[in-house]
Amino acid sequence: MFYDTHAHLNYPDFAAELPEVIARAEAAGIARIISIGTDLASSARAVKLAEEFPNVFAAVGWHPSHATEAPEDLRPALHELARHPKVVALGETGLDYYRLPSRKPGFTAADDETYKTEQAGLFRQHLEVAAELGLPCVIHQRDSLEDTLVALEPFADRVRGVFHCFADDAATMRRIVALGSLVSFTGILTFKNGRNIRDALAATPMDQFMLETDCPFLAPMPYRGKRCEPAYVKEIAEVAAQVKGCSLEDLSAATCATAERFFEKLSAAKKA
Ligand SMILES: [Zn+2]
Ligand SMILES: [Zn+2]
Repeated sequence: MFYDTHAHLNYPDFAAELPEVIARAEAAGIARIISIGTDLASSARAVKLAEEFPNVFAAVGWHPSHATEAPEDLRPALHELARHPKVVALGETGLDYYRLPSRKPGFTAADDETYKTEQAGLFRQHLEVAAELGLPCVIHQRDSLEDTLVALEPFADRVRGVFHCFADDAATMRRIVALGSLVSFTGILTFKNGRNIRDALAATPMDQFMLETDCPFLAPMPYRGKRCEPAYVKEIAEVAAQVKGCSLEDLSAATCATAERFFEKLSAAKKA
């Protein structure tokens, strides 16, 4: 049994066959799927899927790449959505400096700064709501590690974050764990050129990481380049067990227990 702690089930890629996708995940032993919102519409949709499918849970948030389209104050809407019993986290949120405005003609470094400020404000709003509600935060970080850690630090005593799709080195993992947060690994772990990520996993304590697909993106080997789906956590788990030098059973027990501790409402729903 494994959990897919980060899936985008609302993507149009799945629209034609969502019940089949979820059934295939179940058949592969993926017992729980957390569907992640990237704006208010997809967050509301994630909640709806959680109501519809017993194994699906939701995280509600606004992705940093869409920061410019976000309402000025997202907090009331997040608050409202996050009260739902199957909403286990805020996010995804965070900072993404991979595609800054100045890459496009007509934009300057000043536009980059405005964009970064907007993302930071939005990230902070998620952290505030997470702190108020006692929920964890699903954090997206790309080319923005230092600023992401600086933004999280003042909340670290109240909010745990998961640095999802972790693709940095062991030293970065240690800084994240030192803040009380943790990391989660995608199909990149299985890529031929994913050596540095496997090294980071090897150094990660058994109780400080989770598994995810980030589907429909990042399908693991042997599906690389194709549409990804939650069932493929199995392929990620097999490589993770090799890297950790443990059995699949031990990896299952560790990663599921970590996810249940991190997403407290996941285990509350399990008991109910
Ligand atoms: Zn992300
Ligand atoms: Zn995502």
